[in-house]
Amino acid sequence: MSDPIYDNLKRLVQEDPEHECEGIGREKICVRIAAIAQLPTRFGQFHIVAFENNRDGKEHVAVVRGNVVGAQDVPVRLHSECLTGDVLGSLRCDCRDQLEAALEMIGRMDYGLLLYLRQEGRGIGLINKIRAYALQDAGLDTVQANLALGFRDDERDYAVAVHMLLSLRVRSVRLITNNPKKIEQLTEYGILVTDRIPHVMKPNPYNRFYLQTKAEKSGHLIDLSDIRHLEEQGDPPIVKRSSARRWPPAR
Ligand SMILES: [Zn+2]
Ligand SMILES: [Zn+2]
Repeated sequence: MSDPIYDNLKRLVQEDPEHECEGIGREKICVRIAAIAQLPTRFGQFHIVAFENNRDGKEHVAVVRGNVVGAQDVPVRLHSECLTGDVLGSLRCDCRDQLEAALEMIGRMDYGLLLYLRQEGRGIGLINKIRAYALQDAGLDTVQANLALGFRDDERDYAVAVHMLLSLRVRSVRLITNNPKKIEQLTEYGILVTDRIPHVMKPNPYNRFYLQTKAEKSGHLIDLSDIRHLEEQGDPPIVKRSSARRWPPAR
């Protein structure tokens, strides 16, 4: 069966099978496409492109919808790995909801992609993230917990993401995010960001309160002293149908 999208992706590897370059960012990251396959999902038909890198051997993936090779204005979501949220359904963060909302959104588009970046716990790693949770259990907030472990609040670096976009020959992106800092970082690395697509999340009965709280933080409508979580994706959510007037509920 012919699959021109698959063929385009495979051509990228054929043209530069042993890719090496001087690297990107402070770590001089260089990634190389290692494998490509079709990926039918509950969110629609995708291709998956697996990357290996020249520094720590971490394997990152691009989940690709439609033909993005050489394309402009490609909708892109950056997702940082979160084992506890993405896989185990932890409610200490909303990573899984953000991941699913993004894949649902991209799955409905003609083309777009999600970069799944293996920077667990905002770059501090899984074990340190669990240690930070333990400190939060003991009463520290997320920032204090990370600082107590000797990390900055956010250790993420998007150099890998930038190289992945370059490897896929994406010419410009429309970033799916509520976080202007992500746009700034990509721009600093030379990626042309032509637009921002707001990342709107669907609340469920379990995370509704948490999401509403995060979304309305700026309005100071709620006492946040009892909310403790790690904002791993760094995206303040926009919640579908949320309204400051309906929250908090009338007594
Ligand atoms: Zn390279
Ligand atoms: Zn998470």
